Amino acid sequence: MIKQIVIVGSGLAGYGVAREFRKLDAETPILMLSADHGGFYSKPMLSNALSSGKTPESILNGDAAQMSAQLKIVIRPHCCVASLNQPKNEVILADGESVLYDRLVLALGADQVRLPLSGSGVEKVLTVNDLDDYKKFRAELDEKKRVSIIGAGLIGCEFANDLALTGHHVDVIDISSQPLGRLLPPAGGAFIQRKLEGIGVTFHLNTSVNSIDQVQEHLYLTFANGNSIESDVVLSAVGLRPRTQLAASTGISVNRGIIVNRYLQTQLNDIYALGDCAEVEGKVLPFVMPISHAARALAATLAGNPTPVHYPAMPVIVKTSSCPTVVSPPDFGIIGAWNVEADENGIKALYEDNAGNLIGYALLGDATKERNSLTARLPAVLQ
Ligand SMILES: Cc1cc2nc3c(=O)[nH]c(=O)nc-3n(C[C@H](O)[C@H](O)[C@H](O)COP(=O)(O)OP(=O)(O)OC[C@H]3O[C@@H](n4cnc5c(N)ncnc54)[C@H](O)[C@@H]3O)c2cc1C
Repeated sequence: MIKQIVIVGSGLAGYGVAREFRKLDAETPILMLSADHGGFYSKPMLSNALSSGKTPESILNGDAAQMSAQLKIVIRPHCCVASLNQPKNEVILADGESVLYDRLVLALGADQVRLPLSGSGVEKVLTVNDLDDYKKFRAELDEKKRVSIIGAGLIGCEFANDLALTGHHVDVIDISSQPLGRLLPPAGGAFIQRKLEGIGVTFHLNTSVNSIDQVQEHLYLTFANGNSIESDVVLSAVGLRPRTQLAASTGISVNRGIIVNRYLQTQLNDIYALGDCAEVEGKVLPFVMPISHAARALAATLAGNPTPVHYPAMPVIVKTSSCPTVVSPPDFGIIGAWNVEADENGIKALYEDNAGNLIGYALLGDATKERNSLTARLPAVLQ
């Protein structure tokens, strides 16, 4: 049988494994199948591209042909995998073609959650989860000035910062009482809210969007609290749902993500998963650092040296330049409490367990300077 590694997905996870594997093995054929253009880019750049002077074109580091030559792999863009025939080690493409694999890596990413909204303008609601989405967003934005963002989480706040800094009028709507409600204690939420308001962002908190209606070029958002606002562009950023359907329909166990062990292996031999689609030992961590660690471990395993993934503490930098913020979200399964020091220049919030051990932190403003020393005190995410 052909000794070919097939990677499904050309995001940071798919490319991460391909790149790490090539450092260890220059020969084994790798085929990358991707539903999108198959080029390589850094997805985190999408939410600060405007203020960094980047265009969708300049964000792309290399197209599929360039990446194929660089990594000595075969890349098939616009090639959607429809199903797997696991007993025969086959991947079935949308057009019915079947492709053999020796080892299969699922790096499928996640879908943006879509809220059930009503109104004639719902079709105009945009999400940004990849470069193609971002091209559409930038084309839609064009010369328009008013942007509403549904969701004050990490991606919503980063886009709010980017758009406000580039002269847009930004409204952010969230059902929570504060921005970054899942990552920050209330004092941290209030701090970043003030900083974003300082650059012109308007928050509508403790409410949700019920409907979006379009009248000519204008969009009217009506909230659950009865208020309404007018906007030119609406961006939804309310969360991600790992792409598990392909795995589930093959009988691969899924929960919140595709279930894998420390070797990134599903319960089926020779099928692995990593990145936003995967749940590693119960953890779904849709961030760059866990992907880098998983890609290195999986590459070693695929190269013949079975290697479990270890996750050290992995702080996330929130790219809100108007309010420098770093968070290392605690495992809220561990009983503990926030210990917050606040002044006008920043917030230092430490999440400590009952014995006083540091479990997580949120640093804003000047307190971000303490990031390295505090990170060194954090427990590993996966030992
Ligand atoms: C705007 C934004 C900003 C972010 N900023 C940060 C940040 O600052 N720091 C951080 O740590 N993280 C950040 N993240 C998260 C981080 O970018 C993601 O965790 C990471 O890029 C996910 O990579 P992935 O390869 O798992 O998934 P994706 O990049 O989504 O790739 C999935 C790939 O699978 C392909 N695919 C899916 N289904 C099929 C199929 N059936 N057949 C063939 N191909 C298929 C897709 O076409 C795609 O190529 C951000 C995310 C967004 C959206």
